[in-house]
Amino acid sequence: MNRDSPRPRTAAVLVPMPAERPYTYAVPDGMQVEPGSIVQVPLGPREVAGVVWDADAGAVDPKKLRPITRAFDCPPLSKDMRRFIDWVADYTLSPPGLAARMALRAPAAFDPEPWIEGLKPTGNAPDRMTDARRRVMELIGDGFAWTRSGLAHAAGVTGAVIDGMRAQGCFEDTLLPPRPVVAPPDPAYGGQDLNPDQQAAADRLAATVKAGGYSVTLLDGVTGSGKTEVYFEAIAAAVEAGRQVLVLLPEIALTHAFLERFQQRFGAKPAEWHSDLAPRMRERVWRQVAEGQIRVVAGARSALFLPFNELGLIVVDEEHDPAFKQEDRVFYNARDMAVVRGHIGAFPVILSSATPSVETRVNAQTGRYARVALPSRYAEAALPTLASIDLRRHPPARGGFLSPPLIEAMRRTLEKEEQSLLFLNRRGYAPLTLCRVCGHRFQCPDCSSWLVEHRFRGQLVCHQCGHAEKKPEACPECGTLDHLVACGPGVERIAEEVVAHFPDARTIVLSSDLVGGVRRLRLELEAVAKGEADIVIGTQLVAKGHNFPNMTLVGVVDADLGLANGDPRAAERTFQLLSQVTGRAGRTGKKSRGLLQTYQPDHPVMRAIVSGDAESFYEREIAERERAGLPPFGRLAGIIVSAATRAEAESHARGLRRAAPAANDIHVLGPAEAPLSLVGGRHRFRLLVQGERKSHLQGFVREMLAAGPKVRGSVRVQVDIDPQSF
Ligand code: ADP
Ligand code: ZN
Repeated sequence: MNRDSPRPRTAAVLVPMPAERPYTYAVPDGMQVEPGSIVQVPLGPREVAGVVWDADAGAVDPKKLRPITRAFDCPPLSKDMRRFIDWVADYTLSPPGLAARMALRAPAAFDPEPWIEGLKPTGNAPDRMTDARRRVMELIGDGFAWTRSGLAHAAGVTGAVIDGMRAQGCFEDTLLPPRPVVAPPDPAYGGQDLNPDQQAAADRLAATVKAGGYSVTLLDGVTGSGKTEVYFEAIAAAVEAGRQVLVLLPEIALTHAFLERFQQRFGAKPAEWHSDLAPRMRERVWRQVAEGQIRVVAGARSALFLPFNELGLIVVDEEHDPAFKQEDRVFYNARDMAVVRGHIGAFPVILSSATPSVETRVNAQTGRYARVALPSRYAEAALPTLASIDLRRHPPARGGFLSPPLIEAMRRTLEKEEQSLLFLNRRGYAPLTLCRVCGHRFQCPDCSSWLVEHRFRGQLVCHQCGHAEKKPEACPECGTLDHLVACGPGVERIAEEVVAHFPDARTIVLSSDLVGGVRRLRLELEAVAKGEADIVIGTQLVAKGHNFPNMTLVGVVDADLGLANGDPRAAERTFQLLSQVTGRAGRTGKKSRGLLQTYQPDHPVMRAIVSGDAESFYEREIAERERAGLPPFGRLAGIIVSAATRAEAESHARGLRRAAPAANDIHVLGPAEAPLSLVGGRHRFRLLVQGERKSHLQGFVREMLAAGPKVRGSVRVQVDIDPQSF
């Protein structure tokens, strides 16, 4: 090295790309950066925002070293957040750059929010007083600054009146600090009087918050037992202690109702965070979380990557919900990562559910997690009476899907002017369309799935990739007209049947493909809650969380759906979904029923639901998992290999299998065609890596990938640690 030129200062910067390591950059003279600083750096021909990382900046030839272009005026990502990002990357086998990318999703937020132009009263009165001017003078007596439009609006005058007063020296220009997105929550604002069970649970949760330190508590209670009211008290304790709080919700459609309830308790809404937020709002929320103005966030799984600096509690509501799993780029389960975040930040985590996941149940049994239970529904609200309808004994009429006993129950519910919900977890009109002449089946050109008819839209749609085509009148295979037949039911078809039986009832279909998106859905849900529909036909969207006070009948059209797919988790999932949907009934004092149409009334899931004996269902499930060495008694990782051709995908997957290192506690299953063997034109094969509870699965998979064939051409390899289905 040339002794005359001093070694430049360097920093390691993690860029939001699939980068395995931070890159080294020069720090220009006079620029202040520290680990966590958000900076702009050149990357190839572009400039990107990255984070200064803790890693030792590797030595780079000083001639090739490029300088950091800019250090943003932004609070640095905390050490906890950096450790969390490293941890997520390591656990999920993702490049740290991609994990960091999730924390940098609001680029414009790295610059401070602009201050707002305002007018500060000088105390001077205008030369000539008018009524309008007097009204303005009354408002500004306290000397606080206003925006021009805000003042005009409040005083009920035109902007010109304000301009005139300004010209006469009544105001001077000023800048107002940016407005917070939400007002701070007030822990003492409101809240229900809790019953003794609820109070005891709330006290325990609040105590864990006050004690501080890492802990995980399962809050376990039937739907309607008041879990939300109870964990609100833990949130109140955290807010009082000056900590920030994150509530993770599985479904955007649930957020609105949650915000309202939160406001009743705390006098202000929490900030919301999800993919449906307007970009400008995202930027502001990100920034205000970083600056600590926002104390409570309610959001989707990605909210885990918001730049909290004072996080002191995470609540995961409906912790069992599969929606917490992200299966895109970085595959992670937000429920599990919330626990990790609590561990790193040394604060409590609350997992709430009426039907906890088997994993969480086991953790509570073995004492890794604490458990707080709410044994009964709140006040007079009784759980619905549940029964199954054996479809072998009560077959629906030809071409229909509703059995006589269910139709009869709906008729009686209508007579009492109460509401019914028919649940079918299938969007559209029919899951399969056939030609009656040649047997042609309509399949997606790019996926291994049938096209689902959506009759309201007149389309055939692929639920995997979104491919949509107009439904033809003639069969594309044999050309015969008018002989296409819909097979099986979707919610639209059930609606048709309902209307035929009850032409005067107000019937509504609620599913995620409702025209108008989340906003429309929210309005429809509110309308249903207000009683503006008699019969609701819905997919799993309506199964979750909503309170419909006048809903006294829930009919499950096909309780067996979901049990058939051979996945060991199918029973657990079906149990959770059916408990949740039948829990929509009887949320007030009225007598209510849940009816399950099934061909297998003796299936353990149906028995557990009907008898209300969740305990023995879980015991069985847990015993079965233990015997098979499945999670949480063993560990699993999926490796999905996809490629443009089937041969490429298969040969790469076989190559990987051959590259598996020797280990006596871990073995590899497959490759086999993935459950969805073709998606969006890509062929998929899957390897399953199964290990013991203490096995170092990640190390094994890492070795396998390193020793395996080079990823080339159209091949892509995606690792899924703790897969949802196995
Ligand atoms: P869960 O989350 O367990 O399903 P919720 O917290 O949604 O239960 O409570 C169910 C319903 O009962 C809600 O409408 C809630 O406002 C009401 N509720 C629960 N506890 C109380 C209480 N202590 N006082 C008044 N209403 C309550
Ligand atoms: Zn498709």
